[in-house]
Amino acid sequence: MRKRIIAGNWKMNKLPNEAKQFVANVSKKLPQSEKVEAIVCAPFPYLPALVDEAKGSNLKISAQNMHFEENGAFTGEVSPAMLQDIGVTHVIIGHSERRQYFAETDESVNKKVHAAFAHELTPIVCVGETLQQREANETNTHVEKQVSAAIEGLTEEQVAATIIAYEPIWAIGTGKTATSEQANEVCAHIRKVVAEKVSQHAADNMVIQYGGSVKPANVDELLAQSDIDGALVGGASLEADSFLQLVEAGI
Ligand code: PGA
Repeated sequence: MRKRIIAGNWKMNKLPNEAKQFVANVSKKLPQSEKVEAIVCAPFPYLPALVDEAKGSNLKISAQNMHFEENGAFTGEVSPAMLQDIGVTHVIIGHSERRQYFAETDESVNKKVHAAFAHELTPIVCVGETLQQREANETNTHVEKQVSAAIEGLTEEQVAATIIAYEPIWAIGTGKTATSEQANEVCAHIRKVVAEKVSQHAADNMVIQYGGSVKPANVDELLAQSDIDGALVGGASLEADSFLQLVEAGI
């Protein structure tokens, strides 16, 4: 049985006190259940304090990006070793905003996924199509290409441990959610591709999330689908109550 994973992606939001208060509040109220895992993906400067604040609770703390190099002359970048040392457990890789505004490519995503595993960080790899690609019936081929590139060269166990977040770009921050059937169709396609390219074991164990305007009002329907194992949530993860409702929906 796959675990459900609800991850809140704060993006570039919250000031330090708000971030700490959120984690203090949420880590106390998190449901004690083996079925669901809750993760907060916070901006870099808050990570050490939030890891501290979440200690002893079930809440995991994730970064939203990192570089793939070990160290060196990369002004402004953060390395996987730094995140590992802080006690971060997960890292978002290849979010569509990073692909769009920061020139992230399938190649850099793959390097980052390898770097994450080398530092015991679980990658949350984002994939998804534009509206244009959906209308041109290119969704499956595009997502397949992104997933294949991301997992290239990984061991079977690493693929099984990778989290994929399917996030149609037209549904991010727009209030437009893919219907649960549309979302499930792509998640099922991803699982099929992983089964063919890697193994049935990897496909059966890989957690595939949906992301794009997920909120308490639509999360149940999405999680009821056969191949959707959780959600990567932006806007609706910013309020503690709404984030807790999303986690509770995963039980
Ligand atoms: P949203 O963002 O929930 O605000 O649509 C999702 C994401 O970008 O991960």
